[in-house]
Formats: sequence, structure tokens, C-alpha cells
Amino acid sequence: MCVRRLFRSSHLQWAWQATFLRTVQARRWGTHRWTHSGGSTYRAVIFDMGGVLIPSPARVAAEWEVQNHIPPGTILKALIKNGEHGPWMRFMRGEITTADFLREFGRLSSEISKTSVPVDSFFSLLTSEQVAQQFEVMTKAISQIRAKGLQTAVLTNNFYLSNGKSFLPLDRSQFDVVVESCLEGVCKPDSRIYQLCLERLGLQPSESIFLDDLGSNLKAAARLGIRTIKVDDPEAAVKELESLLGFPLHWDVPNTCPVRKTMEIPKDTLQKYLKDLLGTQTTGPLELLQFDHGQSNPTYYIRLANHQLVLRKKPPGSLLPSAHAIEREFRIMKALANTGVPVPRVLDLCEDSSVIGTPFYVMEYCPGHIYKDPSLPGLEPSQRRAIYTAMNRVLCQIHSVDFQAAGLDSYGKQGDYLPRQVQTWTKQYRAAETSTIPAMERLIQWLPLHLPRQQRTTVVHGDFRLDNLLFHPEKAEVLVVLDWELSTLGDPLTDVASSCLAHYLPSSFPLLKGVCDQDLTQLGIPPAEEYFRMYCLHMDMPPVENWNFYMAFSFFRLAAILQGVYKRSLKGQASSANAEQSGKLAEFTSNLAWDFATKEGFRVFKEMPAAKPLIRSCHTWARPWSLLSPTGRRSYSSVPGAPLAHTSKGVLVFSVEGLSPWVQELHDRLQRFMRQHVYPLEPELQRHQASVDRWTPSLLIEDLKEKAKAEGLWNLFLPLETDPERKYGAGLTNVEYAHLCEVMGMSLYAPEVFNCSAPDTGNMEVLVRYGTEAQKARWLIPLLEGKARSCFAMTEPKVASSDATNIEASIREEDGFYVINGHKWWISGVMDPRCQLCVFMGKTDPRAPRHQQQSMLLVPMDTPGIKIIRPLSVYGLEDAPGGHGEIRFENVRVPKENMILGPGRGFEIAQGRLGPGRIHHCMRLIGFSERALALMKARVKSRVAFGKPLVEQGTILADIAQSRVEIEQARLLVLKAAHLMDVAGNKAAASHIAMIKMVAPSMAYRVIDRAIQAFGAAGLSSDYPLAQFFAWARALRFADGPDEVHQVTVAKMELKHQT
Ligand SMILES: Cc1cc2nc3c(=O)[nH]c(=O)nc-3n(C[C@H](O)[C@H](O)[C@H](O)COP(=O)(O)OP(=O)(O)OC[C@H]3O[C@@H](n4cnc5c(N)ncnc54)[C@H](O)[C@@H]3O)c2cc1C
Repeated sequence: MCVRRLFRSSHLQWAWQATFLRTVQARRWGTHRWTHSGGSTYRAVIFDMGGVLIPSPARVAAEWEVQNHIPPGTILKALIKNGEHGPWMRFMRGEITTADFLREFGRLSSEISKTSVPVDSFFSLLTSEQVAQQFEVMTKAISQIRAKGLQTAVLTNNFYLSNGKSFLPLDRSQFDVVVESCLEGVCKPDSRIYQLCLERLGLQPSESIFLDDLGSNLKAAARLGIRTIKVDDPEAAVKELESLLGFPLHWDVPNTCPVRKTMEIPKDTLQKYLKDLLGTQTTGPLELLQFDHGQSNPTYYIRLANHQLVLRKKPPGSLLPSAHAIEREFRIMKALANTGVPVPRVLDLCEDSSVIGTPFYVMEYCPGHIYKDPSLPGLEPSQRRAIYTAMNRVLCQIHSVDFQAAGLDSYGKQGDYLPRQVQTWTKQYRAAETSTIPAMERLIQWLPLHLPRQQRTTVVHGDFRLDNLLFHPEKAEVLVVLDWELSTLGDPLTDVASSCLAHYLPSSFPLLKGVCDQDLTQLGIPPAEEYFRMYCLHMDMPPVENWNFYMAFSFFRLAAILQGVYKRSLKGQASSANAEQSGKLAEFTSNLAWDFATKEGFRVFKEMPAAKPLIRSCHTWARPWSLLSPTGRRSYSSVPGAPLAHTSKGVLVFSVEGLSPWVQELHDRLQRFMRQHVYPLEPELQRHQASVDRWTPSLLIEDLKEKAKAEGLWNLFLPLETDPERKYGAGLTNVEYAHLCEVMGMSLYAPEVFNCSAPDTGNMEVLVRYGTEAQKARWLIPLLEGKARSCFAMTEPKVASSDATNIEASIREEDGFYVINGHKWWISGVMDPRCQLCVFMGKTDPRAPRHQQQSMLLVPMDTPGIKIIRPLSVYGLEDAPGGHGEIRFENVRVPKENMILGPGRGFEIAQGRLGPGRIHHCMRLIGFSERALALMKARVKSRVAFGKPLVEQGTILADIAQSRVEIEQARLLVLKAAHLMDVAGNKAAASHIAMIKMVAPSMAYRVIDRAIQAFGAAGLSSDYPLAQFFAWARALRFADGPDEVHQVTVAKMELKHQT
């Protein structure tokens, strides 16, 4: 599916907009007015982005120039060069793509500095998560401004990234209006863009204040009558803003903010209740603030006379079953008070909803420090380590509580904690589901099958994370553990995994900041594995081996929670301003969970007794989606009655009915598309391939491509492991895709229609895995959109290319370019006029170790020096318009940034490229064979020879039976290879990939040959697809390396296993 379309058509995006509009309307109705010294009123604050909310491009450029030895001021000069008509301003107006901008901007910068300027490295830095972070002081100010009922807006000269989205590293929910120049086609200081912003806010110029770091932008705003503030230093600017607005933009109780509009509670009834609770001497006003974290149960700070308290309540509205159990929080904290576990002192539980609208409890406020950022900025590495150690220790304390002695033996069921948890969170997720999340579907199947066999039972916190701990302000000591909402009796390792969630989340993750993009060793933070070991050591237990299971479960639970928050945000009930974003985040975290499930599969796989083939087993579901029910499971073990324990070694879905409903639906849609659009056009497409116009792509194919895109049948090939965030493809596993790819294999024309044809798929996967942002912008996006095609050039006529170390083409460095010379042949796709890119393999260093001599370069096909000598043919078939060409490369000069990964890394890339590419061919060969057999069956029923239909001849029946058996055998092996790629990775599946490569083309060749024989001479003609299928099946015994090479691989691996 096209990336831009994916983004635009997303349900979540739509839902987000709807919620956003509701919020804007609500704000307009209830807008407060704040008087400034001039006597008029401000109703909105408008922020520029770069230089005001995040660091300015000029500042980032200055630092980057120093680090890269570029003459100072180069970037700034290039930014302003040619004013309105310069590349920067055209980029800001969305007139040119990222790739065009980088090219032009690079040229301009190099001219200015008279040296080569790698502008894509600057651009990557500018847009990186580390640099593009919102200033804390601005975040606080915005939250205060909004709490007072004023509107906020961003008005920014902004640009599109190569993924088709604009660059907006901000939490959008902080703003009522976002105006970006690249979307509007107008830039500041053009007055129209300010007017547009005011119009969307529904305000007059004099009702707003505008902050920008550029004088020209401020002048334009001032001319319209908007009050302006020049931002040189964000802190100083906030002070100036504070004096204009006349209310404070900071407050003194840490981690609190004014009570949000939707979260207000009646102060008078609360005050009366507190007086009754605390005694009559409590007079004076009641001060109420809201804690700014805690998605689930709204939490308030109360100051009344000399009492400082915390109130925690259920959220308003109808709630999911068994969620938000604040009564349980109260009970556990009370019970733990005397066990040595540090908990806040609870005072009272009020279940009477008439007091503040929902049940709540009150506890003493404990001043201390909450580390919201798990990277612990501002601390020394040793201090960070001490904080994480203290966190680990307190967890051990919780898990060591004698829960019976503490009166908690009825606090939760004992035993079977994880199966129940998986079931509970599955139910919670289903209750909050808004659209299908494929990874969640997979996890819902996978988790019950991989439950640990042994579990301990202790008190578990249920949401144990750094920011649920209150620390001593001066030492690494946990003062109290907060937020016991999910606590129960259960498997303590789930808590250990919870406390490691941040290790795998990026620092930009909005609801739970992570550290996965930081250097933990340098920071002094123990990595997750060490944290688990530390825990085992403290608890005096053997090290945990299956902790990937616990991580998978914890991310699954987080995804279910985020989905709940999202669903509530759609109903306007969520307790945090960030809640609306959580829908997308649920998808993101479920993908992380699935990554851990895959890793766990890999670990289990490695422990499988692979040396003893007799006890290998594969499993499947006869009936799909029978949650936790073993009844639908069938065993295909080669040992009769293989033990059920083997079920934990992976689930192989071998039939379409066993796929998730979402993939089954895709499969149905694909089959329908083939029936309605592809098969009927085959004769016409074949005529085109035989005509004089054959080297010009058929418009019929282009038309079908658009139809396939529109039906969401586009780029299905990219495996989830390569594209875990599903940025580029559909996010299918290899097994899921295998079932779909087989359908595409039924017609030689189909793969291109769905943008799933070789060699583009392999090349796109290389770019996704190894390409830089600039390489992706230039090559990947047009390929994903089906606008360009590509080829892969390795094989050479002069050397035996089945051994890729023989390749002789040279890649030489010269004046900042690579110069390539070589002779290649059998280059599929090169004849196609749409072929814009050649992924070229050649030698950069013939003296390096054998597997480090080769490199891969991205060569634009319009580079001078590329000469196409002739198209080659396979049994006389030219396979137009892509063809298989013989080419010469003569002194072809390519910029250095076109190298993939780096010199000498060609083999490494080839390994990554070949796995999925090879298996796709095999999947399609199963499709060829099924089609051939179907054609054969129809033919032999209708044709009569020697007095009876052919189908009644014994040899024909034997041929049909033989073909059916061979197809089934090959399919099972192909699916097993795909399954191993999913659960154990391409490397572990290498032997099985080689096996199917040996098996599938020869099987297809035999099945098609039988079909041709049954057809009589017609089978050889171009009236049927059989002759073409036959030629392809034969060619595929070479195209991905000859059979013998795969036989050697299989034999070598087999010999490694000694029994
Ligand atoms: C239709 C088609 C499309 C192709 N598309 C591309 C493409 O897009 N890009 C590209 O770079 N190449 C492509 N190729 C080329 C293909 O990858 C090579 O043909 C293949 O790698 C074999 O190399 P070779 O032809 O040089 O055979 P050689 O290496 O000369 O091998 C000849 C024979 O030697 C035998 N042999 C080799 N190694 C062993 C061994 N270890 N043990 C026993 N016997 C052995 C095998 O029988 C083999 O067939 C394509 C080929 C075809 C037919």
C-alpha cells in the first residue's frame, strides 16, 4: 500500500481528527479571557516550531558544521540563498520532494563552501529524535495556558519527510490548531498564513500572542496586529509571556498541573468530607492540583490547612469491567504498611459516589522525586546505576512479602496467573478494539501456547516502572511505591519485565519515555538482561531463560492498556491529554511484543533436538481462533502421540482457514481480484508480449496496478521482521504472505500488478533494511509506489557466478566518486524503460578476505557508461518488457553516498536479500503448479480418446495423483521454511530455504510437464500458460543459484548434526 495513502486513510488518524475537532469546539464554548496590561484580552498563544518549541535549524547547523569540519555559516547561507526561490523556501512550501531538496541544497552548500557538503547527514541530524525534542519549559507553559482555557497553536514553516508525512516532532494534542507551510503552500512571513491560523482559531489578531525566533516573521505578525515575543532563549520568552498573560506558567508542587477542565471535582463537598475525616480544625481554602502522569485513575494533590494529601479516584463514565479498581489499591497499601515495603500511608476509602462523583481514596502526600525520564538526565553513571539497583531491590522486597501473614491470601487467585492474565487482557483488548491490529491477533494465539511451565506466586505490583517510584531527593532510596491499581497475587517475573519496558521504547515514546536509542553502558544503566540477572541474584533463584516470553506478555498487556485509553479518549473520558495518541501506540507496542515472541521462538528453536529428526513436530489449528482451547489442535509429529509439550515449539498455519480473519479476508480479496481482473486479461497481455511493442509496458498492467492499490492489495511482500512498524508494507509474516504469494503465482502477470515482483521486492527489502534516509527517499518510495522498477546485477558471463566470490566487476574510488567497470548478463528487468535503478555487485578491494571484497552500489540507470548489449531469451521467450539483459558498465561514475552499508559489505547484504526473495519464487511455483494441475483436470474431463474421456485412463489418474502429492509435499516444506523464518530468523532457516529451492522448481517442472503431456500439442502453444510456466520453472533451477549449490548447503548442514 502506498505510504502516503496508508497514513491518510488510517482509521486512527480519522478518529484523532474527530476527537480533536470536538475538543476545539468545547474550548471555543468555554474559552476564558485573560486581561493583559493594555486592558484587552488574549485568547490564544501561537508558537513557531524550530527555535521556539524545538532547537532551530540554524543552531543545529552550527554544531553540525563544527563536528563535520564544514566552514561555519555554510548551511545558514544556503538556507537563505535566493530567498523565496531558494530550495529551502520551496521545500517549505511543499513544492519539491525531500530528494530534490537534498540534491539542490547539497549543490548550493558545496558551491558556497567550495567543498563537498554531506547535507543528508545534516538533515538526518535535524530530524533525529535526539535533536527534535520539545523544550521542557515550553511543555509546561503550554499545559498551563490550556488549563486556563486559552487556545494554543503552532504556526511553522515546515517540510515533508521522505515517508510523505510532515516533520512534526510534537505531541499534537497540545495544540488546538497546527498550521504547516508545506501543507498550505504558503510560508511565513506571507500574511496569508497568519490569517489562516487566526481563522482556524476563530480569533482576531489582537486576541493572540505569537512567539518566533525570526525578526521578519514577527514583524509580519505585528503588522497584522498580533502581539509578538522574540524568542532567543525559551526560558526568558516564557517569562515575558507570563507577564503578558498575567498568570504563572510554572507551579511549585512537582509533577502537577492545574486541574484539567474535564477532570474537575466539586471542591465544596470534598472540603466538607475532608473536614469530617481530618477534624474540625482544618479551616482555610482548599488548594487542588492534578498530577500530570497516571493515565488510568485521575490523581490530585490537596492542600488543606497544614495537611498535604493525595486523592485518587476512578475516572468518570462507564468503565471496562474490573478496571480502575481503586478499592484494591487502598486494600493492598494498607496491608503492606507493616511489611517493610515502602507505600504511602492511606487514610480513608470513600465508596460514596455522591461526594465527588466517583469512589476515591485519600493518602498522605509524600514529597520526593519521581524520575519520569528513565535515562535519568543530569545524574552521574554511578548514580543511575544506584537508582536502578534500588528499584530492583524494592521489587525483591515486594516479592518477598509473606502475603498470607499480611492478610492478603484472598487478594487474588493462586496459581495459573499467566493463563488468566492472557485471557483477561485479551478480553480487555477485545472490549476496547477499534480496528484489527495484526500483531495483537498473532499474540492472542501465541501467548497461550508458550506459557511458562513453572510459576511462583507472590504479591505482584502489576505496573512496576521507574516513574511509579518516589525517590529520596538526595540519595538512591525508594521512599514509596505508587500506583497499585493492577496489583494482585501472581507471577513475580511479570513485574521484572514491566520494569524493563522502557529499555525497549524510544525516548520519543509519548506515554512512556524509553531508552532504547541511548547508549546504556555509557549512561551506567544496567541493560534488561543484566537487570533480570540482578533480580535473580537478589532473590536467590536460577537465572531466567524465557524472559523474552515475559517481555512479550508485558508489551501485549501495555498494548491492551493503550487501546483501552484510546477507546476512552474517543468517548472523551481519558484522564490525560496524551490519551488520543495511544491508539497508534497500541499498534506500535504490540509489534514490539511480537518481536519478543519471535525471539522466544528462536530461543526455543535453538534448544530443539534438531539432531534427532524423529522427534521434530509441527502443529496447526484445524479450527481457527479457538482461544486457549486445545481441542482444535492437531499434531503432525512423526512420532505417534508426540507429547503436547511440543506445541510450545511453534504453530505452523498450513491452511488458509488457520490464518487470522484479517489475512483470510486479504486472501479472499486477492482471489476475487485475480478472477475479476487478472485471468481475463491474460490473452491480451500475452499478445502484447509477442508484439513489436513488447518492450513498452502495457497500459493494462498500469491500470491493474491502480486497481490493486485501491483495494489495499499492494506491497504485501515486505515481511514484518524487516518492517516491524509497518511503515512500508502490510506487515504480514512470511507464512501469511506464502499463502497470498501462491495465489499471485497462478498468473505470470500477477506479481507486478500487486507490486510484488522480483527483482524489485528484493531490492526494496535491501533499501528498507540497509538504506540511508536519502537513499530511501530517492529509490525506495518510487519503487513502493510502483512508479519505478529496478534490477539486480551480479552474474557475469566470464566467471562461474554460482560462486559469487568469483565476480570480477570493479568498483574503484576516484575524486569522491565510485567508478565501476564490468560485464554482466541475465540481468532481469533491465530492459524495462521504467527501470531506474540497478543494484550493482562488484569488487571494491580484491585483496580483502574473500567475503569482504564485494560491495553493493545503487546505480541510477541513466548514468553515462551503461550499455545494454542485447536481451537474452529463455527457450525463445524474452519475458518483455523487463527481459533479461546483457550489459556493460564502462567507467560509470556514481556518487559515494550511493554505496549501501559500506565497502566490503556486499555479501552481508546479499545474505539479507536472498532469504525472502528465494522463498517468494518457491511460493509462486506452488501457484504455477496448482494452476497447471487445475488446467489439466479440466482438459482431461472434456477430451475423449479411444472411446472414453482421458480422465478415465489409468496413467492420467496416476499423473493427477502424483502431481497432487508432490504439490502438497512441496507446499508443506515451503510453509515450514517460511514459519522458521518467522520464528527463528532467516539465518536459522537457511537449510530449509535451500531445501525448498531444491524441491520447488523441480516439482513444478514435473507437474507442469504432466499437464502439458495431457494437453497434447496445445500444451506447448501460447494458447495456454503452460509453456511459459514450464520455461520459468526450468529457469528457476538457475535463477537464484543452481540446484547443486543448494544441495551442497543442505548436505553440509545435515552433516553438522552428528546423530
Ligand atoms: C531467467 C534467469 C534470470 C536471472 N536473473 C538474474 C538477475 O536478475 N541478476 C543476476 O545477477 N543473475 C541472474 N540470473 C543468473 C543466475 O543467478 C545464474 O545463472 C546462476 O547464479 C548460475 O550462475 P552461472 O550461470 O554463471 O552458472 P555457473 O556458475 O557457471 O554454474 C554452471 C553449473 O555448474 C554446476 N555447479 C555450480 N556449482 C556447483 C557445485 N557447488 N556443485 C556441483 N555443481 C555445481 C551447476 O550445475 C551449474 O548449473 C538469472 C538467470 C536466469 C536463468
